[in-house]
Amino acid sequence: MEENTSTTAPSNFIRDIINGDLETNKYEGRVHTRFPPEPNGYLHIGHAKSICLNFGIARDYNGLCNLRFDDTNPAKEEVEYVESIEEDVKWLGFDWDDRMYYASDYFNQLYNFAIQLINEGKAYVDSSTADETKDMRGTTTESGKESPNRNRSTEENLRLFMGMKDGEFEDGAHILRAKIDMSSPNMHMRDPVMYRIKRATHHRTGDRWCIYPMYDYAHPISDWIEGITHSICTLEFEIHRPLYDWFLKELHLENRPQQIEFARLNLSYTVMSKRKLLELVQEGFVSGWDDPRMPTICGLRRRGYTPESIRSFAEKIGVAKRDGMIDVALLEHTIREDLNKRAPRVMAVLKPLKVVITNYPDGKIEELDAINNPEDSSMGKRILPFSKEVYIEQDDFREVPPKKFYRLYPGNEVRLRYAYIIKCNEVIKNAEGEVTEIHCTYDPETKSGTGSTRSVKGTIHWVSAEHAIKAEARLYDRFFVTEDPLADKEKDFKDLINPSSLEMLSNCQIEPSLANVKAGEKFQFERQGYFCVDPLSTEGKIIFNRTVPLRDSWAKIEKKQ
Ligand code: ATP
Ligand code: MG
Repeated sequence: MEENTSTTAPSNFIRDIINGDLETNKYEGRVHTRFPPEPNGYLHIGHAKSICLNFGIARDYNGLCNLRFDDTNPAKEEVEYVESIEEDVKWLGFDWDDRMYYASDYFNQLYNFAIQLINEGKAYVDSSTADETKDMRGTTTESGKESPNRNRSTEENLRLFMGMKDGEFEDGAHILRAKIDMSSPNMHMRDPVMYRIKRATHHRTGDRWCIYPMYDYAHPISDWIEGITHSICTLEFEIHRPLYDWFLKELHLENRPQQIEFARLNLSYTVMSKRKLLELVQEGFVSGWDDPRMPTICGLRRRGYTPESIRSFAEKIGVAKRDGMIDVALLEHTIREDLNKRAPRVMAVLKPLKVVITNYPDGKIEELDAINNPEDSSMGKRILPFSKEVYIEQDDFREVPPKKFYRLYPGNEVRLRYAYIIKCNEVIKNAEGEVTEIHCTYDPETKSGTGSTRSVKGTIHWVSAEHAIKAEARLYDRFFVTEDPLADKEKDFKDLINPSSLEMLSNCQIEPSLANVKAGEKFQFERQGYFCVDPLSTEGKIIFNRTVPLRDSWAKIEKKQ
């Protein structure tokens, strides 16, 4: 083994290819990857997989990874997206140093290379209409037809192509095509388009250009210019690979990068395409790109996901050569695993019901010790005030208990966590017959931490009514009702949105230690899940997003296997 092939990440077929290249010294031992987003939307968890893969390989092989904005399509690209992408890649924990590039940086060189291909008879200007071009393309079973413009002279091609660049023609009047093979069984090799005329203002080059290169032409050359060795992309580009290689070879470029394809991430109950996510944003199905129900990196961040959990998820799913669907429960499992270790436990009542402890002295306040994280004793303890009136969850009380209900009901006892055992004696109702208050008595001999030995079956969380802070909690469910919302092509995926994917609880009562929380802080609300402080929280109103409930369906699946 080479010294720089040692890695902590599990091996995969891409690493096998790189190891092989290092053995044959293919790129003089260099490993150089890139992450090439198109700035036409916010990054999602699928991109995170690609980011972890590309930057992870560079890190493990002492190589480099560039961030490159693939901005060859001016109509859909915006500076807002560029900035969000930078933020998200950094947040995930990766660094491109000074290697942030734009495909648009290479427009001149791409143009000059196109002239070179024309000069060598490998590219031509086609003036056929879009319909004619489509008709001549053939089908997968039928060979295409050569355009009558295919054999234009070099001089005419140069004159027309320069005219295209100089704005002499209308949009769509001509295209520049690579002269390859109209009878190739690979449709992408049937004289693919290299340039089109498009009068659109580009986010970086403004109106300097009215011709723009196509992805298939710009990408291999951008890779080559940056000295990329392994150009990793998703499987749908496998069939483009001969074209990737063709441009580099016909331009006589040395040290050619190689394209390697892997399976894109698909997650159950999730759509991932930026175009579809944009639809959800523009049509108001979500509050924005960072709505905590979105699979975007900013959405996951706001929801309470950590960069560590996303990196760990990317490692768990690995890379494959065949497309598949990953259970979203695995992603949820990964964040639980991470937060379990570091999120402080606190008590918060989401749907409060008042309990009056009738035999507790009026005005008395006790300070009780509570453990911040049983998983990590270094996180210490905090003080919880206890008083005559407390809130408990409405769900923790039943006037008529179902079987195996070990919580509060008339005549029954439960332990208030870190406090006392209480017994329900009386149920107070309003005129509509709704339960408004519970009257209990406490057993002063059962204070937690004092060696009391009496135990009861149920322990519930609570907050002292006098000390509680009011807050809002937002609970999320799957955003779609079916596992694969795109499976049925006839259906609009937006009809499959879960109408109850968001539940807002605006009258939560939380323990006073949470008075000064800051946006992004994460907690485990005992028995309720992991919660993260929303950036829209204000001093008067703290908003919590539930990242995940505590119940781990993935752990159950794993156990069964
Ligand atoms: P989308 O289809 O969501 O719009 P895209 O592929 O058009 O995504 P790009 O900005 O072109 O998005 O992608 C940047 C990089 O991220 C590419 O290398 C692409 O292959 C990779 N990528 C995009 N989606 C996924 C995914 N679901 N899983 C893994 N990698 C992905
Ligand atoms: Mg794309």
